[in-house]
Amino acid sequence: MQKAGNKKEMKYVLVTGGVVSGLGKGVTASSVGLLLQSCGLRVTSIKIDPYLNTDAGTMSPFEHGEVFVLDDGGEVDLDLGNYERFLDIKLTRDNNITTGKIYQSVIDKERRGDYLGSTVQVVPHITDAIQEWIERVAAIPVDGKEGSPDVCVIELGGTIGDIESMPFIEALGQFSYRVGTGNFCLIHVSLVPVLNVVGEPKTKPTQHSVRGLRSLGMTPNILACRSTMELDVNVKEKLSRFCHVPLENIVSLYDVPNIWHIPSLMRDQKAHEAILKALNLLSVVCKPALENWTTMAQRCDMLQEPVVVAMVGKYTGLSDAYLSIHKALLHASVACRRKLIINWVSASDLEDATALKDPEANRAAWNSLKAADAVLVPGGFGDRGVEGKIIAAKYARKNKIPYLGICLGMQVAVIEYARSVLGLQNANSTEFDANTKNPCVIFMPEGSKTHMGGTMRLGSRRTYFQVADCKSAQLYGNQSFIDERHRHRYEVNPNMVSQLEKAGLSFTGKDETGQRMQIVELHSHPYFVGVQFHPEYKSRPRKPSALFLGLIAAASGQLDAFLKKSVGGTKANGYIPIGKGKPGLSPKHRYGPINAKVNIGSFDGMYTNGNGLHV
Ligand code: GLN
Repeated sequence: MQKAGNKKEMKYVLVTGGVVSGLGKGVTASSVGLLLQSCGLRVTSIKIDPYLNTDAGTMSPFEHGEVFVLDDGGEVDLDLGNYERFLDIKLTRDNNITTGKIYQSVIDKERRGDYLGSTVQVVPHITDAIQEWIERVAAIPVDGKEGSPDVCVIELGGTIGDIESMPFIEALGQFSYRVGTGNFCLIHVSLVPVLNVVGEPKTKPTQHSVRGLRSLGMTPNILACRSTMELDVNVKEKLSRFCHVPLENIVSLYDVPNIWHIPSLMRDQKAHEAILKALNLLSVVCKPALENWTTMAQRCDMLQEPVVVAMVGKYTGLSDAYLSIHKALLHASVACRRKLIINWVSASDLEDATALKDPEANRAAWNSLKAADAVLVPGGFGDRGVEGKIIAAKYARKNKIPYLGICLGMQVAVIEYARSVLGLQNANSTEFDANTKNPCVIFMPEGSKTHMGGTMRLGSRRTYFQVADCKSAQLYGNQSFIDERHRHRYEVNPNMVSQLEKAGLSFTGKDETGQRMQIVELHSHPYFVGVQFHPEYKSRPRKPSALFLGLIAAASGQLDAFLKKSVGGTKANGYIPIGKGKPGLSPKHRYGPINAKVNIGSFDGMYTNGNGLHV
């Protein structure tokens, strides 16, 4: 890959989708990345979303699924979460391209006078801007090593033929020509429907979709065909003939019990060889080392003993709204050898008002909550369902049910404690009651106190542990500090902290100023943890998030064993010394993450047949 002049030539894999959306294009692209990574290549990724929004920050999780947050504070499409989890990389906000971002950059240039004299047009100005963006971002290292990656996997959102994606298709067509054959590989993910169980798989939709792609000047190197069952060689031959794609470049991606099977499904059909050949990288050919993933995938299929988590949220109708939390729970459950079952509880259904209006819904919500081994209250904005979340926190606290409160979930736990234990009846967050007499959660922007726009505390921030032997510090491997991602405006009122602490609530993690409460715990409870940050974003299949691991371990009776290992951890137990601890922590507390040795993976409903572990 070294060119004359020692400049490394970047290789690009473009993944497009045809026929219908929701085929699992993101998972396919992530699996392609993983396959290449397991051949020893350094892989990065770019997701193109052809919508006009600048970023996903303002989009409703109801419609679009969760907003994923990156280290740099970028609020991006949830597919970037798939890439980070599969490839164990850290992306930047620029790895998510939107029409809004591209037009904004071109219009800014136009206003600056950079195009003075010319008519600014989609071709060449927008298409050039897209190509420059891709080239610039592809070179950013994302795996913690220096130097640019070898391969950039680009996923084009939407379906071929969408009006919105036209400038991107044009730009990518020009781009493939510019970088040249041998540096660009196009994988088209398409649907091969099987009309009934014994019916014949239908190739026509894929033929049409490839024809559409060709009419736009793009020829696929590889066809990745989604179907409910494995495609026969005669179906592949037909596709090959009509779509002009070599037989060995047609990959059958049939339904599997969980998405960790996808990389090996591709490997078994030699998809990596087809990709490496298209990228002129045949010298790299090796047997992709996917043993860990295969083992994880198989282990997951065999899990029997359930762990039930009540997820008390607002968007319970669309599980993608909490995708990263779902994945983090799964990572932790597999590490604890438990089959994850999520009871989605609509927070407002727990409220007394619902009991009057709709007693059936209220009863069902309470039954789901009471049937759970653990309670999780996720983040959220706006006051709908907040009282229900407070009720859930109270239920978990009083009944000693393991509880993890994330962001708003931490805030409601503090409000509940102030109300129930301190007796401050109308304690609240000023987000929900601007005039509350007992504001235990207040607007605490890092920047302006008068403007809402741009005042969100976003991205990676540091938390220092205050109590060496608290559960969270132990679960994080007794490091002196941790970095996790944030997305909020409100925080625990520093003026009420000592009052709350005297009443038994312990703020075990704070920021460097000591003013911002980051972790709250109840020592007298088996596992009651609230965090102002979102640990779910950094959970990885093979490195489950510490606090999720704590929750599931507590829910399945394994927490003591985990904590014992953590405190008494030695190198032999797999705990890696991580350097200097904060003064005050004893040497035995200076060990790496408890999760350093756990091998597990993640799931995605779009790829499973509904019988798998995913819920
Ligand atoms: N709405 C709360 C805040 O802005 C919580 C945000 C969240 O849960 N992400 O602080």
